[in-house]
Amino acid sequence: MAIYVALGANQAAQYRGKTVTPAETFLLAVERLQQFGVDVLKTSNLWQSPAWPDPDAQPPYINAVIAVETKLDPHALLALLKKTEAAFGRVAAKRNAPRPLDLDILDYHGQVINYDGRTMRKGETLTLPHPRMLSRPFVLMPLAEIAPNWREPVIMRAITGWAARLALEDVAPMKRLGALLVPSTK
Ligand code: AMP
Repeated sequence: MAIYVALGANQAAQYRGKTVTPAETFLLAVERLQQFGVDVLKTSNLWQSPAWPDPDAQPPYINAVIAVETKLDPHALLALLKKTEAAFGRVAAKRNAPRPLDLDILDYHGQVINYDGRTMRKGETLTLPHPRMLSRPFVLMPLAEIAPNWREPVIMRAITGWAARLALEDVAPMKRLGALLVPSTK
């Protein structure tokens, strides 16, 4: 079991005075996480998918998943992820607004926290496993690449079971772009 973190972006970011693409953002963000005590064990390919719910209104998303290890507990890791999002110019905005960087904890060693099976619980800052991940092809496909034996920690359904439930129209537009090449720290 490991810790899995999802990365997403569909906007250039501003980082240390430079404009960077989503793929560059991911590399820089991962480097930054490594500096703050997060070891990166595995990285998926980069995947591109149309923005949801309106693909014509926003640039497509780039997504990836990384397996990490850290001494930070889940809350401290989430705080680091939020600080990292902010460092790349992420500001609080409407739901589904375009974003330069989104970082989510998908699974932290199978821990179950504030989980009611469907949604983020209102008012809670951390829900694990991430409840929305299971319906998102842009999370399940990169996760399946690096963790083919992953099981959802509450009902222990294998990732292949979740992937099989995805609608074909959601999966078909996804493009695999190539590896997110991050120097491993382990
Ligand atoms: P997002 O719009 O994806 O950045 O998430 C919005 C909020 O979800 C954040 O402010 C977090 O506090 C909360 N949240 C709850 N559970 C998680 C999780 N597992 N990973 C990331 N954010 C989470």
